[in-house]
Amino acid sequence: MTGTKPGKALASRFVAGDTLDEAVPVAAGLNSDGFEVSLDLLGEEVHDTQSALAATDEYLECLDRIDFDDLDANISIKPTQLGLAIDEGLAAEAIERLATRAAEVGTTVTIDMEDSQYTEPTVRLYEKAQAEHGNLGIALQSYLHRTPDDLSRLLPLAGHIRLCKGAYVEPPEIAHTAKSDVDAAYVTQLEELMTAEHTVPAIATHDLSLVNRARALAADRVGPFEFQMLYGVRTDLQRELVEEGFPLRVYLPFGSQWYPYLTRRLAERPSNALFFARAALGR
Ligand SMILES: Cc1cc2nc3c(=O)[nH]c(=O)nc-3n(C[C@H](O)[C@H](O)[C@H](O)COP(=O)(O)OP(=O)(O)OC[C@H]3O[C@@H](n4cnc5c(N)ncnc54)[C@H](O)[C@@H]3O)c2cc1C
Repeated sequence: MTGTKPGKALASRFVAGDTLDEAVPVAAGLNSDGFEVSLDLLGEEVHDTQSALAATDEYLECLDRIDFDDLDANISIKPTQLGLAIDEGLAAEAIERLATRAAEVGTTVTIDMEDSQYTEPTVRLYEKAQAEHGNLGIALQSYLHRTPDDLSRLLPLAGHIRLCKGAYVEPPEIAHTAKSDVDAAYVTQLEELMTAEHTVPAIATHDLSLVNRARALAADRVGPFEFQMLYGVRTDLQRELVEEGFPLRVYLPFGSQWYPYLTRRLAERPSNALFFARAALGR
């Protein structure tokens, strides 16, 4: 699927290209339109050490290009792509190398949050790396019952915290499953985040009611914060926020392993199926 022409047509709305060379001009174009960028090398659930090390090397290259091409960008990483499913120490070493290089380049590293079996080790990885380097951030998912505790645990670390709803299917013991409950949890956590002093809130949603709540909270916020949205999603709203003067970072995936990423985008928005079907038929 990922190697076929219709497959590639399908991916092109949400993915910047198969390679870093293809992603860099897209990132530069977004920068000139006023957006910051977070580069995401697609890939996850790696179960062999070689692939985990290769992904780390690709991310190091990515940081070199951010430096060389003077991009206003950071990187978003998935711990299982860097070896968390094999050995936590392997992922910790990778994050250590990436945070060190990111600091040299003058940028930051955001740790994406994956499914709930990895939440606790991911939080541990973040705590360790952020205590040592100070240039990291982490994604928290408002649907998880544990997130209020994670917020209290992580706010003192003064990194950036990306608040998203959560993209994985989780059981009711672990996560809210009704949209209204997820949205209510998001509002409560957003309010806590936007009134916290020593953190940089990253408001990662395309939900207009939540964006509007954030717009209102922004009026009283003293410290920095930013909106974050996915490449190819609600581009009208993205432009509107930038025109209003809000900082907005576009999450920009690239790479050939886009299938799980696109599956999550489809699950969030079943009407994308029509768009996917058209692309597959070449129309
Ligand atoms: C920058 C960023 C980083 C993220 N990182 C993570 C992460 O690390 N871990 C994680 O679990 N999840 C992550 N997510 C995904 C997130 O958890 C949600 O699954 C996703 O953003 C959809 O939720 P929503 O807040 O946009 O609200 P929704 O209620 O799902 O959507 C609100 C509106 O946004 C539009 N929209 C939303 N999704 C789509 C789509 N796929 N296609 C087209 N339109 C759409 C529609 O207009 C929809 O009505 C991230 C999201 C963003 C924006």
